[in-house]
Amino acid sequence: MKKCYIENLAFNVTDNCNLNCAHCLRGKKINNYISDEVIEKALDQVACIGNIAINGGEPTLAISKIEKIISYIIDNSIQVDEFTMTINGTIYSEELLKLLDEIDNYIGSDNLQALFAISLDDYHIDEINRLNLTEQFIENIKKYKENKHFYGFRGINKKLFREGNAKNLDSKKTVPLRPMKTYITYVGKKSKYDRENGLCNIGPLVTIGTTGIITECDASITNQSLLYNYGNILYNSIEDIVLQNGELITNPKKFEKLANKEMKRYRTYNK
Ligand code: SF4
Repeated sequence: MKKCYIENLAFNVTDNCNLNCAHCLRGKKINNYISDEVIEKALDQVACIGNIAINGGEPTLAISKIEKIISYIIDNSIQVDEFTMTINGTIYSEELLKLLDEIDNYIGSDNLQALFAISLDDYHIDEINRLNLTEQFIENIKKYKENKHFYGFRGINKKLFREGNAKNLDSKKTVPLRPMKTYITYVGKKSKYDRENGLCNIGPLVTIGTTGIITECDASITNQSLLYNYGNILYNSIEDIVLQNGELITNPKKFEKLANKEMKRYRTYNK
């Protein structure tokens, strides 16, 4: 098994959330948290990560898991270029901000590379109001906005995928989920990604669910474990799972082009 360079690696650290927004792609929440074993097994297979994204559920409910990911990266000298996450803003976590400092120092770039955004759109606001969390949310936002890792607010600027709670919205507001393609290629010693003896490059995105499955990042929790369960890293390598479910590209330049195009298509819902 070769170590991987993964352009974008996402961890679903929990399937739990303290909100239940009407547009939530995850749908019914489950009190699942990613295990240390899954985190270690995933990171043991990786030498470099372009962007590491922490997803949920709500990441601030799983601070110890984020801490585990960061300490494992640092202890094992895994190269990471950027560390990002989006939180719902209803929970204020000093621990999270300290962890962002820690990973940012480790990345060691002149520019900030550990960033968080806060979800803010009409659906979130309705849910926060419904749960009487508005005052708490406003207080938190004031404090979070002061922090250097705060990147901005994240709303909806495109249609939503018809997954989870979003299935119950007006169908004009949603589009069917078209899963993201994954590509894999092998590079030699002269590649810019080569750190030792060549790596396998995977892109544009690998999402690891709480139970260790490689899955579709925007699917509901149910569909992640049923329809889009491509294999479990506790039993198979990331490389093998992607080889079975993705496309092997022999030319690394073509790989980059395809991976970039796929990321763009996915984010703009192009067919
Ligand atoms: S959209 Fe985000 S904040 Fe809202 S219920 Fe889903 S995971 Fe929680």
